[in-house]
Amino acid sequence: MQSVDVVDNGRSIAAAIIQGSARAVSDGSFKNAMGTSASILFHSKATDPNRIISVNSVPGNREEQSAYRSELAGVSGSLSLISAVCTVHDIHTGSITIGLDGEQAMIAASEDWPLSPARPDYDLLTDIRAKVFRLPIKVHWKWIKGHQDDGASRDSLDEWAQANIYMDSMAKAYWNYLNETGHCPSPQRFEDENWSISFQDKKLSRVDKKPLYNAIMEPTSKAYWQRRGNMSASNISTIDWELIGKAFTNLTTAKKRRVTKHASGHFGCGKMMQIWKFQDHAECPRCPEPHEDPPHILNCPAPSATLRWEKALSAVKVWMTAHYTMPELTTAILRCLHEWRHPNPSRRSARAAISTRFGLRAAILEQDDIGWYNFLMGRLSIRWRDVQHRYYEWLQRRNTGKAWLQALIKKVWEVSWDMWDHRNEVRTTTITPAMIRETENLNEQIIEQFEEGEAGLGQKDHHFLDKPLAHVLGYDLDHKSQWLESIALARIWFANRHEVESPSIRHQREFMASWLSDGSGPP
Ligand SMILES: [Zn+2]
Repeated sequence: MQSVDVVDNGRSIAAAIIQGSARAVSDGSFKNAMGTSASILFHSKATDPNRIISVNSVPGNREEQSAYRSELAGVSGSLSLISAVCTVHDIHTGSITIGLDGEQAMIAASEDWPLSPARPDYDLLTDIRAKVFRLPIKVHWKWIKGHQDDGASRDSLDEWAQANIYMDSMAKAYWNYLNETGHCPSPQRFEDENWSISFQDKKLSRVDKKPLYNAIMEPTSKAYWQRRGNMSASNISTIDWELIGKAFTNLTTAKKRRVTKHASGHFGCGKMMQIWKFQDHAECPRCPEPHEDPPHILNCPAPSATLRWEKALSAVKVWMTAHYTMPELTTAILRCLHEWRHPNPSRRSARAAISTRFGLRAAILEQDDIGWYNFLMGRLSIRWRDVQHRYYEWLQRRNTGKAWLQALIKKVWEVSWDMWDHRNEVRTTTITPAMIRETENLNEQIIEQFEEGEAGLGQKDHHFLDKPLAHVLGYDLDHKSQWLESIALARIWFANRHEVESPSIRHQREFMASWLSDGSGPP
């Protein structure tokens, strides 16, 4: 808000709000990529001596300015003033009618259907709706026919139309003033906006996917993936981010979550489960590895994991064959993935032996550089699509390398999902080392209980030790901990029996019992 003119500290407007007769009218002005707005709060006429008038320059980047945005800015200005009056005069009931001549702006501001973040002026609309929602009073809306002064006598117009004409000229005057002073519109955060997105230090007035997508793939996020994926700065520029983005966009929300979690390492592998304190160890449920990190999900040496990996890779191979993938390319990729999972430097396939046809060897070398774990996370070299595209051309097929690569990225993601699913199946269906430890711990406690024997137990709890030790040791984990808890409680109860059975307590208990049974109150 740039400038406010108020006479009686809003006292008479406050009274009008409480009576339900207050009015607000706003209008906007827009020219040369710059917008202004003006708003007035009044009781009966725009010429009321105690009216409140304000003028604003419309926030936002130049290319986001419009006549519509100026209208909205006027509404936002009115709402700020109304909110200030309610706060200053401690108003909790009442109403105000807000009038404007922009019908679309009024509809968008007054309704409560969900707003798409992609629509223009998403930021202002969110701010307006939040302001309305937070006001302690009711808001009514009124559409005013604009420019009623054209041709008609001003005196014959109603107070709404007169206020509208007044605000129209105020907004224009303020525009001229700003224009002369060389003002440049700039974005700002609104008071009641829940969140906003800034790009290159400029707040965006809406979430337009294209610049946002570019922003996501731009330096900061690339630097993030660089740290996450152990890549060098030059690797980052050799990864096919464009097609990763496209492949990602086509996934279901659930799958999107899987991709980002796995790729960023923020998912429930042993390492994270320990960090998050969901478990006291970071062990792999499938093998003796004490420290299960995200790559281990894929290269766990457990035989069942290896089996699942081979199955997943043969699915990739089947897909590649079905999509006329260059055979040397298929072989090379599968071999490199195999070598990643079973590293053996002395038996590493010679890169010099790989065909240079269609740029295959260069692509392999570049992926070597980016890394094959990164390949499995979908971070494929930008060279792959060209290699395959040239091969399609040579085959005289109309397929494109682009579509092929986008689909390949999805196939590769499926490999890591398969491995993750397998890991979780094992964790929930088999006895893991952590479970074995817990079992041993419980068995020890059970043996101790049997060693202590009936000595510390009341007569009625001797039954806990009726069954032979071997029988109790055969219970499952839950049953064992339940048994231990019960017998421990019985021992505590027995140890404290004197307190429980003390005369005063017994007296109270007997008294309560008789009082409850005969219905008479205490003496
Ligand atoms: Zn493992």
